[in-house]
Amino acid sequence: MTDEPPPENRAVDEEASQGRDLEISDSREARVGSLTVHRALPRPGRRTVGAWCFADHMGPADVSEQSGLDIGPHPHIGLQTVTWLIDGQALHRDSLGSEQVIAPGQLNLMTAGRGVSHSEEATGHYRGTLQGIQLWIALPEGTRDGDAAFEHVADLPRIERDGALVTVLVGEFEGVRSAARHDTELVGLDLKLDGVTPVPLRRDFEYALIVLVGEVDVDGRSVPTGKLGYLRPGRDEVTIGASKAARMILLGGEPFDEPILMWWNFVGRTRAEIDAAFHSWQVDDDRFGRFFSPLARIPTEAPYWQRLAKS
Ligand code: MN
Repeated sequence: MTDEPPPENRAVDEEASQGRDLEISDSREARVGSLTVHRALPRPGRRTVGAWCFADHMGPADVSEQSGLDIGPHPHIGLQTVTWLIDGQALHRDSLGSEQVIAPGQLNLMTAGRGVSHSEEATGHYRGTLQGIQLWIALPEGTRDGDAAFEHVADLPRIERDGALVTVLVGEFEGVRSAARHDTELVGLDLKLDGVTPVPLRRDFEYALIVLVGEVDVDGRSVPTGKLGYLRPGRDEVTIGASKAARMILLGGEPFDEPILMWWNFVGRTRAEIDAAFHSWQVDDDRFGRFFSPLARIPTEAPYWQRLAKS
Protein backbone atom coordinates (compact mmCIF):
# COMPACT_ATOMS: atom_id res chain seq x y z
CA MET A 1 0.00 0.00 0.00
CA THR A 2 1.48 3.30 -0.98
CA ASP A 3 0.84 6.69 0.49
CA GLU A 4 2.33 10.09 0.95
CA PRO A 5 4.04 10.47 4.30
CA PRO A 6 1.72 11.08 7.23
CA PRO A 7 2.32 14.22 9.28
CA GLU A 8 5.00 13.62 11.87
CA ASN A 9 3.45 15.75 14.54
CA ARG A 10 0.24 14.94 16.28
CA ALA A 11 -2.33 17.56 15.47
CA VAL A 12 -4.68 18.71 18.17
CA ASP A 13 -7.87 16.80 17.87
CA GLU A 14 -10.79 19.09 18.51
CA GLU A 15 -13.23 16.51 19.72
CA ALA A 16 -10.62 14.89 21.93
CA SER A 17 -9.67 18.23 23.43
CA GLN A 18 -13.32 18.83 24.23
CA GLY A 19 -13.24 15.61 26.22
CA ARG A 20 -16.06 13.88 24.39
CA ASP A 21 -16.20 10.21 24.95
CA LEU A 22 -16.62 9.11 21.38
CA GLU A 23 -14.40 10.82 18.84
CA ILE A 24 -15.60 10.47 15.24
CA SER A 25 -13.35 11.11 12.26
CA ASP A 26 -13.54 10.84 8.48
CA SER A 27 -11.66 8.44 6.29
CA ARG A 28 -9.92 9.80 3.26
CA GLU A 29 -9.82 8.34 -0.20
CA ALA A 30 -6.61 6.83 -1.47
CA ARG A 31 -5.66 4.78 -4.50
CA VAL A 32 -4.19 1.33 -3.92
CA GLY A 33 -3.40 -0.69 -7.02
CA SER A 34 -6.51 -0.30 -9.16
CA LEU A 35 -8.86 0.14 -6.20
CA THR A 36 -10.12 3.19 -4.39
CA VAL A 37 -9.85 2.68 -0.65
CA HIS A 38 -11.03 4.63 2.38
CA ARG A 39 -8.21 5.13 4.83
CA ALA A 40 -9.43 5.44 8.42
CA LEU A 41 -5.99 5.20 10.05
CA PRO A 42 -3.58 6.91 10.39
CA ARG A 43 -5.03 10.37 10.52
CA PRO A 44 -3.85 13.63 12.10
CA GLY A 45 -4.26 13.37 15.84
CA ARG A 46 -4.67 9.62 15.84
CA ARG A 47 -1.70 7.70 14.49
CA THR A 48 -2.26 4.46 16.38
CA VAL A 49 -5.01 2.68 18.30
CA GLY A 50 -3.22 0.12 20.40
CA ALA A 51 -0.55 -1.08 17.98
CA TRP A 52 -3.02 -0.83 15.05
CA CYS A 53 -1.48 1.82 12.82
CA PHE A 54 -3.21 1.58 9.45
CA ALA A 55 -6.72 0.73 8.22
CA ASP A 56 -7.83 0.70 4.59
CA HIS A 57 -11.42 -0.16 3.76
CA MET A 58 -11.21 -1.67 0.26
CA GLY A 59 -14.21 -1.63 -2.06
CA PRO A 60 -16.92 -2.62 -2.62
CA ALA A 61 -15.52 -2.90 -6.14
CA ASP A 62 -16.15 -5.12 -9.14
CA VAL A 63 -13.20 -7.34 -9.90
CA SER A 64 -12.52 -9.89 -12.60
CA GLU A 65 -10.47 -13.07 -12.82
CA GLN A 66 -7.42 -11.12 -14.02
CA SER A 67 -7.89 -7.77 -12.36
CA GLY A 68 -8.65 -7.00 -8.75
CA LEU A 69 -6.42 -5.62 -6.09
CA ASP A 70 -3.50 -5.46 -8.55
CA ILE A 71 -0.94 -4.46 -5.94
CA GLY A 72 2.44 -5.52 -7.31
CA PRO A 73 5.41 -6.64 -5.23
CA HIS A 74 6.31 -4.11 -2.54
CA PRO A 75 8.26 -4.28 0.72
CA HIS A 76 7.35 -3.94 4.39
CA ILE A 77 9.32 -3.64 7.62
CA GLY A 78 8.34 -3.44 11.28
CA LEU A 79 4.66 -4.33 10.96
CA GLN A 80 2.09 -7.05 10.42
CA THR A 81 -0.47 -6.86 7.62
CA VAL A 82 -3.90 -8.27 8.41
CA THR A 83 -6.23 -8.90 5.47
CA TRP A 84 -9.93 -9.64 6.00
CA LEU A 85 -12.52 -9.82 3.25
CA ILE A 86 -16.27 -9.59 3.68
CA ASP A 87 -16.89 -10.19 -0.03
CA GLY A 88 -14.87 -11.75 -2.85
CA GLN A 89 -11.46 -13.35 -3.08
CA ALA A 90 -7.86 -12.21 -3.52
CA LEU A 91 -4.49 -13.87 -3.94
CA HIS A 92 -1.53 -13.17 -1.66
CA ARG A 93 2.04 -13.98 -2.73
CA ASP A 94 5.18 -13.20 -0.77
CA SER A 95 8.94 -13.58 -0.66
CA LEU A 96 8.62 -16.44 1.86
CA GLY A 97 7.12 -18.52 -0.95
CA SER A 98 3.51 -18.16 0.22
CA GLU A 99 0.76 -18.27 -2.38
CA GLN A 100 -2.60 -18.06 -0.67
CA VAL A 101 -6.10 -17.27 -1.86
CA ILE A 102 -8.17 -15.59 0.83
CA ALA A 103 -11.98 -15.72 1.04
CA PRO A 104 -14.49 -14.27 3.53
CA GLY A 105 -14.20 -15.85 6.97
CA GLN A 106 -10.44 -16.35 6.64
CA LEU A 107 -7.56 -14.18 7.77
CA ASN A 108 -4.21 -13.55 6.10
CA LEU A 109 -1.57 -12.31 8.49
CA MET A 110 1.94 -11.44 7.38
CA THR A 111 4.64 -10.47 9.83
CA ALA A 112 7.26 -8.30 8.13
CA GLY A 113 9.89 -8.23 10.87
CA ARG A 114 13.07 -6.81 9.36
CA GLY A 115 11.86 -7.29 5.82
CA VAL A 116 9.47 -9.07 3.48
CA SER A 117 7.84 -8.31 0.14
CA HIS A 118 4.44 -9.33 -1.14
CA SER A 119 1.75 -8.75 -3.77
CA GLU A 120 -2.03 -8.78 -3.68
CA GLU A 121 -3.61 -9.94 -6.90
CA ALA A 122 -6.65 -11.21 -8.74
CA THR A 123 -7.17 -14.93 -8.20
CA GLY A 124 -7.45 -16.07 -11.81
CA HIS A 125 -10.91 -17.53 -11.10
CA TYR A 126 -13.02 -15.10 -9.06
CA ARG A 127 -15.29 -12.48 -10.66
CA GLY A 128 -17.68 -10.34 -8.68
CA THR A 129 -17.65 -7.94 -5.77
CA LEU A 130 -14.58 -7.44 -3.62
CA GLN A 131 -14.78 -5.78 -0.24
CA GLY A 132 -12.65 -5.98 2.87
CA ILE A 133 -10.18 -4.27 5.11
CA GLN A 134 -6.43 -4.27 5.32
CA LEU A 135 -4.92 -3.40 8.67
CA TRP A 136 -1.37 -2.92 9.86
CA ILE A 137 -0.11 -3.63 13.34
CA ALA A 138 3.15 -1.97 14.47
CA LEU A 139 5.56 -4.55 15.84
CA PRO A 140 7.14 -3.85 19.24
CA GLU A 141 10.87 -3.45 19.84
CA GLY A 142 11.24 -7.16 20.67
CA THR A 143 10.12 -8.52 17.30
CA ARG A 144 10.33 -5.70 14.80
CA ASP A 145 13.76 -6.81 13.60
CA GLY A 146 12.84 -10.50 13.74
CA ASP A 147 12.13 -12.99 10.96
CA ALA A 148 9.29 -12.53 8.52
CA ALA A 149 6.38 -14.97 8.67
CA PHE A 150 3.04 -15.62 7.00
CA GLU A 151 -0.02 -17.38 8.33
CA HIS A 152 -3.44 -18.09 6.88
CA VAL A 153 -6.05 -18.65 9.57
CA ALA A 154 -8.98 -20.46 7.94
CA ASP A 155 -10.91 -21.11 11.09
CA LEU A 156 -11.70 -18.17 13.35
CA PRO A 157 -13.84 -18.32 16.48
CA ARG A 158 -17.37 -16.92 16.12
CA ILE A 159 -19.73 -15.88 18.87
CA GLU A 160 -23.49 -15.57 18.36
CA ARG A 161 -24.92 -12.82 20.50
CA ASP A 162 -28.26 -11.11 20.57
CA GLY A 163 -27.97 -8.50 17.82
CA ALA A 164 -24.51 -9.46 16.58
CA LEU A 165 -22.40 -12.23 15.14
CA VAL A 166 -18.86 -11.60 16.34
CA THR A 167 -15.78 -13.09 14.65
CA VAL A 168 -12.53 -12.89 16.60
CA LEU A 169 -9.85 -11.99 14.06
CA VAL A 170 -6.98 -11.36 16.44
CA GLY A 171 -6.69 -11.63 20.21
CA GLU A 172 -9.36 -12.76 22.65
CA PHE A 173 -13.01 -11.89 23.23
CA GLU A 174 -15.42 -13.40 25.77
CA GLY A 175 -13.06 -16.24 26.54
CA VAL A 176 -12.39 -17.31 22.97
CA ARG A 177 -9.12 -16.68 21.22
CA SER A 178 -8.01 -16.37 17.60
CA ALA A 179 -5.00 -18.46 16.55
CA ALA A 180 -3.50 -15.44 14.77
CA ARG A 181 -0.15 -14.29 16.12
CA HIS A 182 0.06 -10.97 17.94
CA ASP A 183 3.08 -9.47 19.67
CA THR A 184 1.32 -6.82 21.79
CA GLU A 185 -1.91 -6.88 23.77
CA LEU A 186 -4.65 -6.21 21.26
CA VAL A 187 -7.92 -7.37 19.80
CA GLY A 188 -9.56 -7.24 16.37
CA LEU A 189 -13.23 -8.18 15.92
CA ASP A 190 -15.67 -8.30 13.01
CA LEU A 191 -19.26 -7.52 14.04
CA LYS A 192 -22.20 -8.37 11.83
CA LEU A 193 -25.03 -6.40 13.41
CA ASP A 194 -28.80 -6.77 13.19
CA GLY A 195 -29.79 -5.26 16.51
CA VAL A 196 -28.35 -3.84 19.70
CA THR A 197 -25.59 -5.51 21.67
CA PRO A 198 -23.47 -4.54 24.67
CA VAL A 199 -19.80 -5.20 23.94
CA PRO A 200 -17.51 -5.71 26.94
CA LEU A 201 -14.28 -3.71 26.76
CA ARG A 202 -10.94 -3.89 28.56
CA ARG A 203 -10.27 -0.82 30.68
CA ASP A 204 -6.59 -0.78 29.69
CA PHE A 205 -7.41 -0.78 25.96
CA GLU A 206 -8.27 2.07 23.64
CA TYR A 207 -10.63 1.19 20.77
CA ALA A 208 -11.51 2.18 17.22
CA LEU A 209 -14.55 1.08 15.32
CA ILE A 210 -14.66 1.25 11.55
CA VAL A 211 -18.02 0.88 9.82
CA LEU A 212 -17.82 -1.10 6.57
CA VAL A 213 -21.52 -1.45 5.73
CA GLY A 214 -24.55 0.50 6.93
CA GLU A 215 -24.72 2.75 9.93
CA VAL A 216 -23.95 1.94 13.55
CA ASP A 217 -25.23 3.60 16.70
CA VAL A 218 -22.57 3.99 19.39
CA ASP A 219 -23.42 5.66 22.69
CA GLY A 220 -26.45 7.23 21.01
CA ARG A 221 -24.38 8.71 18.20
CA SER A 222 -24.53 7.58 14.63
CA VAL A 223 -21.36 6.34 12.94
CA PRO A 224 -21.93 5.79 9.19
CA THR A 225 -19.84 3.86 6.67
CA GLY A 226 -16.49 5.52 6.11
CA LYS A 227 -16.14 6.94 9.61
CA LEU A 228 -13.90 5.87 12.46
CA GLY A 229 -15.10 6.10 16.03
CA TYR A 230 -12.50 6.23 18.79
CA LEU A 231 -12.92 5.33 22.46
CA ARG A 232 -10.30 6.19 25.05
CA PRO A 233 -9.18 3.63 27.67
CA GLY A 234 -11.11 3.32 30.90
CA ARG A 235 -14.41 1.82 29.78
CA ASP A 236 -15.94 -1.53 30.68
CA GLU A 237 -18.51 -1.65 27.93
CA VAL A 238 -19.95 0.04 24.87
CA THR A 239 -23.43 -0.48 23.49
CA ILE A 240 -23.44 -0.90 19.74
CA GLY A 241 -26.57 -1.11 17.65
CA ALA A 242 -27.86 -1.06 14.10
CA SER A 243 -31.46 -0.69 12.99
CA LYS A 244 -30.62 -2.16 9.57
CA ALA A 245 -27.98 -4.78 8.80
CA ALA A 246 -24.50 -3.34 9.35
CA ARG A 247 -20.95 -4.56 9.41
CA MET A 248 -18.06 -3.11 11.38
CA ILE A 249 -14.59 -3.80 12.66
CA LEU A 250 -13.65 -3.15 16.27
CA LEU A 251 -9.94 -2.72 16.99
CA GLY A 252 -8.48 -2.37 20.45
CA GLY A 253 -5.20 -2.50 22.27
CA GLU A 254 -2.96 -1.12 24.96
CA PRO A 255 -1.85 2.35 23.86
CA PHE A 256 1.39 1.84 21.93
CA ASP A 257 4.07 3.98 23.62
CA GLU A 258 6.92 3.37 21.22
CA PRO A 259 7.24 6.46 18.99
CA ILE A 260 6.90 5.03 15.50
CA LEU A 261 7.92 6.62 12.24
CA MET A 262 5.71 5.48 9.35
CA TRP A 263 6.78 6.16 5.82
CA TRP A 264 5.36 4.43 2.71
CA ASN A 265 5.17 0.73 3.61
CA PHE A 266 7.63 0.91 6.46
CA VAL A 267 7.18 1.26 10.20
CA GLY A 268 10.43 2.21 11.91
CA ARG A 269 11.70 4.41 14.68
CA THR A 270 14.25 6.63 12.93
CA ARG A 271 14.75 8.19 9.52
CA ALA A 272 18.04 6.24 9.20
CA GLU A 273 16.13 2.95 9.44
CA ILE A 274 13.61 4.08 6.84
CA ASP A 275 16.42 5.33 4.58
CA ALA A 276 18.12 1.93 4.79
CA ALA A 277 14.90 0.08 3.88
CA PHE A 278 14.23 2.48 1.00
CA HIS A 279 17.78 1.96 -0.27
CA SER A 280 17.44 -1.83 -0.18
CA TRP A 281 14.22 -1.69 -2.20
CA GLN A 282 15.77 0.81 -4.60
CA VAL A 283 18.89 -1.23 -5.36
CA ASP A 284 16.97 -4.54 -5.08
CA ASP A 285 19.39 -6.20 -2.68
CA ASP A 286 18.39 -9.38 -0.80
CA ARG A 287 16.70 -7.77 2.18
CA PHE A 288 13.14 -8.15 0.86
CA GLY A 289 13.61 -11.46 -0.96
CA ARG A 290 12.13 -12.35 -4.31
CA PHE A 291 9.09 -14.11 -5.70
CA PHE A 292 7.18 -14.49 -8.93
CA SER A 293 4.31 -12.13 -9.65
CA PRO A 294 2.74 -11.19 -12.99
CA LEU A 295 2.50 -7.64 -11.65
CA ALA A 296 5.29 -5.06 -11.78
CA ARG A 297 7.33 -4.28 -8.70
CA ILE A 298 6.13 -1.01 -7.10
CA PRO A 299 8.73 1.74 -7.12
CA THR A 300 8.72 4.74 -4.81
CA GLU A 301 10.40 8.09 -4.53
CA ALA A 302 12.94 8.79 -1.83
CA PRO A 303 11.58 9.80 1.59
CA TYR A 304 10.63 13.47 1.60
CA TRP A 305 13.36 14.36 4.05
CA GLN A 306 15.98 13.14 1.57
CA ARG A 307 14.41 15.31 -1.11
CA LEU A 308 14.20 18.29 1.25
CA ALA A 309 17.86 17.88 2.14
CA LYS A 310 18.80 18.09 -1.53
CA SER A 311 16.68 21.14 -2.41
MN1 MN B 1 1.40 -4.55 1.56
